[in-house]
Amino acid sequence: MAMQGVCFRGVGEVAWQEVAEPRLERPTDAIVAVEMAGLCGSDLHPYFGRETGLDPGTVMGHEFVGRVLEAGSGVTSVRPGDRVYAPFSTSCGTCATCRTGLTSRCEHGQLFGWISGGVGLHGGQAERVRVPLAEGTLKAVSAGLSSEAALLLGDNLGTAWYCAELAELRPDSVVVVIGCGSVGLLGIMAAQAEGVTRIVAVDPVPERRARAEALGVVACAPGPDVARLVASLGGARGADSVMEFVGLSAAQRLAWEVLRPGGVMAVIGCHSAPFAFSPSEAYDKNLTYRTGRCPARRQMERLTERVMRDLPHVAQVITHRFAPQDCVRAYDVFAHQRDGCVKAVFEF
Ligand SMILES: [Zn+2]
Ligand SMILES: [Zn+2]
Repeated sequence: MAMQGVCFRGVGEVAWQEVAEPRLERPTDAIVAVEMAGLCGSDLHPYFGRETGLDPGTVMGHEFVGRVLEAGSGVTSVRPGDRVYAPFSTSCGTCATCRTGLTSRCEHGQLFGWISGGVGLHGGQAERVRVPLAEGTLKAVSAGLSSEAALLLGDNLGTAWYCAELAELRPDSVVVVIGCGSVGLLGIMAAQAEGVTRIVAVDPVPERRARAEALGVVACAPGPDVARLVASLGGARGADSVMEFVGLSAAQRLAWEVLRPGGVMAVIGCHSAPFAFSPSEAYDKNLTYRTGRCPARRQMERLTERVMRDLPHVAQVITHRFAPQDCVRAYDVFAHQRDGCVKAVFEF
């Protein structure tokens, strides 16, 4: 038996093609029929060849919402027929690291959509997906939670809110948000949900700044305008916190420059370049630097009720919807931000 999925073929190449039908391999597994799957910025690392080692034929994607088809005998928290959502990686929920809340560093966890040298897990951009450690990974979709919000909670929104937590926001903080893609825009919403009103959004792309402004914040391109806007909001010595969603040296340098002495830099963009400031510059600013992969499963637990209550508009970051059969075009549009694309999903 086989099914269809959006598969990695090589740099710049994906295809809707046949893959082996997933089956229960352990009593702790579940099989989920996918209803909606997200395209994420991290899917673009192998697509653009920035990250290597992904086996051709791997199903892409790590954001999905669907319905449980089968569950192993060791899975009691969800049952066949339940609608469920998942974080981007599996987690057992019981190891020492999971128990501290850092579910994204589960001792037994695996990322969806990453198979290298034959080892790993297929992703969620397929008709069906196998979910190991289903008990600690899947969560039933609450009544009233939209598919879009559930999908975002498993990655982009959970991550955005984690950045807001790392940034140690207070309602009177002056905050700079660098990068207004999907996660950055959701970061603005998270900061606002935490009561912050003085926010400067930074992005070089005018349409993305317009989206930030539509949320009620001021926005500008990277450059001297950032410090000017920060000062105009009362941050004469600089911003209290910066939420950095880009992951490039220039963004990190800008974050350092606009922070006040004693400020907090929360970094969610995954950096591969050296630090854009020196240890002595960090010392001279009494800088607090916080970073790391979001514990998305914990965020699903903590944030779902709040998102339903306080953020009914989260789904607006999803600008494009595609049939998975149309994946070549979907990846092209999403990867090159054509047609104002911020966030795209496949609907099955
Ligand atoms: Zn992602
Ligand atoms: Zn664990």
